[in-house]
Amino acid sequence: MQYFKAPQKEALFVMNELLGYEKHYADLGFTDATPDMVEAIFSEAAKFAENVLAPINASGDAEGCKWEDGVVTTPTGFKDAYQQYVEGGWTGMTHPEKFGGQALPYSLNSVMAEWFSSANHSWAMYPGLSQGCIETLKEHGTEAQQKMFLHNLVGGSWTGTMCLTEPHCGSDLGMLKCKAEPNDDGSYSLTGTKIFISAGEHDMSENIVHIVIARLPDAPSGTKGISLFVVPKFHAGPEGEKLDRNAVTCGSIEHKMGIKGSATCVINFDGAKGYLVGTENRGLNCMFTFMNSARIGTGLEGLSASEAAFQGALAYAKDRLQFRAMTGVKNPDGPADPIINHPDVRRMLLTQKAFAEGNRALAIYAMKLVDVTQASQDEDAKTFANSKLALLTPIVKAFLTETAQESTSYGMQVFGGHGFIAEWGMEQLARDTRICTMYEGTTGIQAIDLLARKVVGSNGKLLTVFTNEVKEYCKSIRDKSQFNAWSNSIDKHIDEWHQITEDIMQRAAKNPAELGAASVDYLMYSGYIVVGYFWLQMAVVAQQKLDDGTGDPEFYKAKLHTAKFYFDRLLTRTRSLVSSMESGADNLMDMEEEQFNIV
Ligand SMILES: Cc1cc2nc3c(=O)[nH]c(=O)nc-3n(C[C@H](O)[C@H](O)[C@H](O)COP(=O)(O)OP(=O)(O)OC[C@H]3O[C@@H](n4cnc5c(N)ncnc54)[C@H](O)[C@@H]3O)c2cc1C
Repeated sequence: MQYFKAPQKEALFVMNELLGYEKHYADLGFTDATPDMVEAIFSEAAKFAENVLAPINASGDAEGCKWEDGVVTTPTGFKDAYQQYVEGGWTGMTHPEKFGGQALPYSLNSVMAEWFSSANHSWAMYPGLSQGCIETLKEHGTEAQQKMFLHNLVGGSWTGTMCLTEPHCGSDLGMLKCKAEPNDDGSYSLTGTKIFISAGEHDMSENIVHIVIARLPDAPSGTKGISLFVVPKFHAGPEGEKLDRNAVTCGSIEHKMGIKGSATCVINFDGAKGYLVGTENRGLNCMFTFMNSARIGTGLEGLSASEAAFQGALAYAKDRLQFRAMTGVKNPDGPADPIINHPDVRRMLLTQKAFAEGNRALAIYAMKLVDVTQASQDEDAKTFANSKLALLTPIVKAFLTETAQESTSYGMQVFGGHGFIAEWGMEQLARDTRICTMYEGTTGIQAIDLLARKVVGSNGKLLTVFTNEVKEYCKSIRDKSQFNAWSNSIDKHIDEWHQITEDIMQRAAKNPAELGAASVDYLMYSGYIVVGYFWLQMAVVAQQKLDDGTGDPEFYKAKLHTAKFYFDRLLTRTRSLVSSMESGADNLMDMEEEQFNIV
């Protein structure tokens, strides 16, 4: 059985000691989000994750979802857990009071979303998708649409989905075929098939609200002709009354490698009644609200898997006895020493720990930016936060999910052969988190978004907005001589990051394939630097706490050790990424397509 404990102390360290969340919440007017209140909410969320969600994780994987005549049944316990979640008021925590929410900050919910996903990735997807649906209707829906849908979504009696993908159209949404024809009453009739729709059909809520992209009859081709619609499973009255069934059905569910408790549905719209969200042919702009929220959410899923894999591996490594330690006997009363004494096991554990804690700091920083974009009254602050978020969102999505593959793989490896056996939960974690680099835009697509759209597209401006902050920070700690080596390393990486960007831009001016050839390496390279910046800050804070003699010294010493590991062994991976980026596109593109053939 997989071991899991919500990392409350880690989250509070990042929020309070690293990122000044108390002031952040006060500045944004979240007067209810006091440190005491945050801790009280976290403690309840931790209990829910550990006692309600974790116990139905392995059973949910074994049982999976079932489809019969269009009806989808979720695994035993999922519906009950969702009911408890709704009754606990969790669904509406961060939404406005006028829709029945509690108007708490976005970040509060997102910190806990990591724990729910660690405990049970499949289950956490159902409420996770509702959040994106709510955000989209809050930001782009008409007042009438908000009245129709938002109370029930915020209250949790209805859940939401995101319907983008079609059989022939995944990353390239411009190929979309689903049709929307206008009706006389101002509504639209939607016809088409969507595939891979998470939470598209299930038994946990009374109604399901689909956010769907489709094409109007006279729409321009490509992404310029995409419109957005809200289409409920059951028609809704003006005040959110549940009416009769709409022409939306679930054709089947996918049989897949992981997240088996999450229903991945084929959804058929057969002249289903829906309502336009935002303006005609500008649907992709509105959809980005959902996609950006979902991308950070998917990054959190990656983080959650790194944390859960670390916790499982650590407990096992302290318990499992094999051989004596190279440095001498550690467990004289036992037949052998715990495997945590072997350097290679430590390499794996520290990699997991460094990714989980460093990535969490980045994620909670990104959440802080989202809070500003949602709640600040200061337009300049909002623009500034939006710029940083634009750069960091693809990094959060792809770096946190790619590193989760390594962490969950080590989760299995630390267990040796037992890691491959279902009862320990490590193989489920690896299977469940595998999807995270694929959905919500693959790593390849995130990398192009980062390099081509955000960095090159802004002529380097978005990069500079963030790197200025990092350089300022490095300058501000110059007097702390024990951190000079790490600080100089980050500072030099920042200069190199700009130089490499410039080089790629110059090469791409002659050969556009250079952008695609460098992009994933560029994203990972950026991720290592960004997380290095957070490790530097965590180390400085930890040292300060030790100097002041406040808090738990072992916690801070562990932070310093892990920071050292990160700088010595993980940040150094940028060297190989640089070589790869500098090697250019020819080694990929010069090979003729026929030469790929197997003879
Ligand atoms: C379990 C699961 C749940 C999902 N949930 C949802 C959901 O709720 N809603 C929804 O709408 N969709 C959902 N999806 C769909 C998911 O978002 C898509 O599968 C994903 O976006 C990739 O699209 P695709 O599968 O068509 O791959 P393709 O777009 O065909 O890509 C195939 C490969 O080509 C690469 N590639 C494509 N174009 C480029 C390019 N220009 N440059 C470089 N590489 C490129 C990709 O990176 C990938 O490696 C889900 C999928 C799964 C499996």
